[in-house]
Formats: sequence, structure tokens, C-alpha cells
Amino acid sequence: MPAWPGGACPDCGDHMPANLITCQTCRALLNSELKVTFVDIPEFIPLQEVTIDEKKK
Ligand SMILES: [Zn+2]
Repeated sequence: MPAWPGGACPDCGDHMPANLITCQTCRALLNSELKVTFVDIPEFIPLQEVTIDEKKK
């Protein structure tokens, strides 16, 4: 994954030094490839056995 090269934040325009993941001013993601990775994370589905055990307590 490529590091942020440094420069103006695409969201708020504040200058951010290199190698940041998120903007220190507005917390916008500076690494576009990282954003794609977040989207690919599957939805969390609880295991059925775990749900049944919780009801017994
Ligand atoms: Zn920003």
C-alpha cells in the first residue's frame, strides 16, 4: 500500500506531512487504496451456537 506522499488534504486542504493515513485536521483518509480495503471487509455475522449459548444464561 502506497504511503501518503505529503501535501494538501483532498478534503480540507490543510497541508499534511508524508506517511499519514488520515488527515490530522478533518480525519479524512489520505490513502485511497486503504479506503478500498475497508469496503471489502465482510459484514460480521455472529455464529448461531454463540447466540443460543447467550440465551441459556
Ligand atoms: Zn483534511
